[in-house]
Amino acid sequence: MEDYYGILGCQPDASKHDLKEAYQKLILTHHPDKVQQVNSGAQQKADTSMFQAATKAWKVLSDPSLRAEFDACWKQNSLAQKWPVQEDVLFEDLEWIEDEDVYCVSCRCGGNYELTKSDAFFKADIVPCGSCSLCVRVVYPPAQNSNDSGTSSNLPG
Ligand SMILES: [Zn+2]
Repeated sequence: MEDYYGILGCQPDASKHDLKEAYQKLILTHHPDKVQQVNSGAQQKADTSMFQAATKAWKVLSDPSLRAEFDACWKQNSLAQKWPVQEDVLFEDLEWIEDEDVYCVSCRCGGNYELTKSDAFFKADIVPCGSCSLCVRVVYPPAQNSNDSGTSSNLPG
């Protein structure tokens, strides 16, 4: 999953003030308007994606409730990293269960791997089965280019 603190170069216990400073510094360095004048091609592309990543990170971490959700999701995902991964599952192969507000794929034990909307938004990749100790790795589609409609980067649902 995306490490928003890492993108901003901050520790998870950083204050909002520190996060903002880090974000503003990144934005100044990587802003597309600015970069265009000095760079071209690959470097410009890298700057644009850094700019987008930093903006997304800041959007989440500057909002206390989103930050709390991200922290919880990150913690769960980090714990899950230690578990053996059974298989890779494409995100588009998950089934959206409207009643339960989760994305779901069935496990061979008869249980389900379930991904909440916020898990999907934060691109949590290791998902444990609800009934046994197996995990799957969810593979997300690559990020859209800034010039595309960008629907895949929006909160699903
Ligand atoms: Zn299972």
